[in-house]
Amino acid sequence: MSVKGYIMQLQPFSVNDGDGIRTTIFMAGCPLRCKWCSNPEGFTRAEKIGWYKRKCIGCGMCTEVCPENIGIDMNPEREKCIACGKCADICPQNARMQLVSYVDADYVISEIHKHRLFYSYSGGGVTFSGGEATGQPEFLDYLTENLYEMGYSLDIESSGYFDMDKVYRSLERMDLIFMDIKHMDPCKHLYYTGVDNAVILENISGLKHFAAEKVIRIPVIGGVNDDDENIRASAAFVHENLPGAKMELLPYHRFGIVKYEALGIPYDHPDFFTPSPARMEEMREIVRSEGIETADFR
Ligand code: SF4
Ligand code: SF4
Repeated sequence: MSVKGYIMQLQPFSVNDGDGIRTTIFMAGCPLRCKWCSNPEGFTRAEKIGWYKRKCIGCGMCTEVCPENIGIDMNPEREKCIACGKCADICPQNARMQLVSYVDADYVISEIHKHRLFYSYSGGGVTFSGGEATGQPEFLDYLTENLYEMGYSLDIESSGYFDMDKVYRSLERMDLIFMDIKHMDPCKHLYYTGVDNAVILENISGLKHFAAEKVIRIPVIGGVNDDDENIRASAAFVHENLPGAKMELLPYHRFGIVKYEALGIPYDHPDFFTPSPARMEEMREIVRSEGIETADFR
């Protein structure tokens, strides 16, 4: 019997989340609250509608179909929204958009199946991302079991903050596992993400039991985790605890700020910055000097 789950987006023809051409499934809900998160719609598992003020032409069609009589600027009345999606269906500008949907796993599989030829010819497949890909273990297990049996290559991107016992079988089906180290200092990790890093570091060490290729990523946030000491400590940890893993350093970007506006959530961290390309290369050199090969999927 199929199961249902919350997703933010099914993104076909993705080329940044593993080898070849892939569909990336962005699964909603995340136990972390990284202050730089670019996907705030994925914080919780609940259907959500966004309103992109900059796209809106004020035609009022959304208000005519809304069963809750919510106005064009929905943010002051957001608690009344039942996420029926009628406004998103009718909006001529895509200014109202369904940002999180509750979908059947068999629907997800059928959508992926439409592009299977691209995936098989390119050496691609399916990547589970988020939000947090491990936050709906039964949904993930159903999807990975069925897609694995159909012969799809499966990858996963995770924060690393999960109960290993609940997702062990899903991880066994992966060809590639991406996992993050956001900071090696537990106090700074707690401050910037809302959770301690102990579970994450333990799960990274536990990846040695899986046959998949492993890539440990650092989302490099200027002013947060971009100092030599932290980069070196992260690489040393991976070298000691997950031999053979590669590392990928990804520079901070601000593309997600528009989503905070669409959801009526304040973004209070204008001081984060993107390290320069030269500085990014310096940090990759530090990683390599610790005996770790660097990867580049972006
Ligand atoms: S239907 Fe779309 S474009 Fe028209 S007022 Fe509503 S949000 Fe704006
Ligand atoms: S999703 Fe439904 S309830 Fe919410 S604003 Fe749109 S039409 Fe109204």
